[in-house]
Amino acid sequence: MLNKIIQKFTKTPTEKAIEHEGRFVARNYHPLPVILNRGEGVYLWDQEGKKYLDMMSAYSAVSLGHSHPRIVKRLTEQAGRLAMCSRAYHTDTLGPFMEKLVEVTGLDMALPMNTGAEAVETAVKAARLWGYEVKKIPENQAEIIVAEGNFHGRTTTIISFSTEADYRKNFGPFTPGFKAVPFDDIEAVKKAITPNTAAIIFEPIQGEAGIKVPHEGYLQELRALCTANNVLFILDEVQSGLGRTGKMFAYQHENVLPDAVILGKALGGGLLPVSALVGKKEVMGLFKPGSHGSTFGGNPLAAAVGLEALKVLEEEGMVQNSATLGKYFIEQMRGINSPLITGVRGRGLWIGLDFDPARVSARTVCEKLMERGILSKDTHHTVVRFAPPLTITREEIDWALEQLKAVLRDLEGQK
Ligand SMILES: *Cc1c(COP(=O)(O)O)cnc(C)c1O
Repeated sequence: MLNKIIQKFTKTPTEKAIEHEGRFVARNYHPLPVILNRGEGVYLWDQEGKKYLDMMSAYSAVSLGHSHPRIVKRLTEQAGRLAMCSRAYHTDTLGPFMEKLVEVTGLDMALPMNTGAEAVETAVKAARLWGYEVKKIPENQAEIIVAEGNFHGRTTTIISFSTEADYRKNFGPFTPGFKAVPFDDIEAVKKAITPNTAAIIFEPIQGEAGIKVPHEGYLQELRALCTANNVLFILDEVQSGLGRTGKMFAYQHENVLPDAVILGKALGGGLLPVSALVGKKEVMGLFKPGSHGSTFGGNPLAAAVGLEALKVLEEEGMVQNSATLGKYFIEQMRGINSPLITGVRGRGLWIGLDFDPARVSARTVCEKLMERGILSKDTHHTVVRFAPPLTITREEIDWALEQLKAVLRDLEGQK
């Protein structure tokens, strides 16, 4: 009894640290109650030494695993030689990095940025540039079609074309020039196209919306529609790209080539923010000195890390692992019979489980998983994602499945 009372009034080191953070950090996130301080491969450790399997991969930013030794080595080497000098000068790292990006995407030229949102902004600019200079859309009339439920980042222009109230509330006035249509609805896109449409910018699979996979053939249909209407087809693969879905890029599942692709997250090898817009020459060739830029974009440290990340991804067979184990993982998930689960979706090592909100919140599931050593994250209160680093093994997946089943049993029992 006394012990219980003492426990109630003495805080654990974790509780203290969380409270401390709360005093100094703006509350724009609602993290799970854990203080992490180490990562290696697919594992994370908290400050009390407890080990967790990472099923979140920082929204794909850690697709290559935590502190990959080859990438850390390359980072350290480059940091000691030349880390930053701005693009006022040429460097010996940027050309090789962009060449590799062009090679893996099948496109022609690339423009380096830092965060995903900046690369999305670059795509918006590229689309408008092309709209005015090539398609001859009247000045300031260019339109871009986006999908409802999209997530492309948090800048004021990007949230202007979000359809999520949480992302927009009290951040207006918004940037005009965007039209949102339902996702996975080709007729809606067709209807939205006008002579002033410069581009469509879509996620091939909607990540933050809850890993929404469109019907097969959607990307081919979009490609054909864009070609027929002289509209740029731009894909945001910041989260879906670089192996997450079991192919290097999600568009490769349908053998289409977009006019430009937006990359980020995993491109930084889990160590740095590195992003880029990669596109066809007709689009990328329109940027002129002074038209766009970023002080840190394409810096030598980022370029060295980005290139090494792409090499590691290829040479260590991670994309294949994502395809093989992703298929296994989702099949096993589909085999779970729980009244709490109402749906299983995904592609590659990117799976969303829908929970019945009348029975349990996705947040509660994440907290229970955390107790059992699995870190995940809910999205939209009803979806729990399973997106481990692409280096995960079958044994680790089996272990995760056991934990998930145990959590489900516990939660079912509580009803
Ligand atoms: C995360 C994400 C972004 C934004 O990336 P940041 O690095 O957070 O700016 C853009 N598009 C998609 C699809 C994303 O998942």
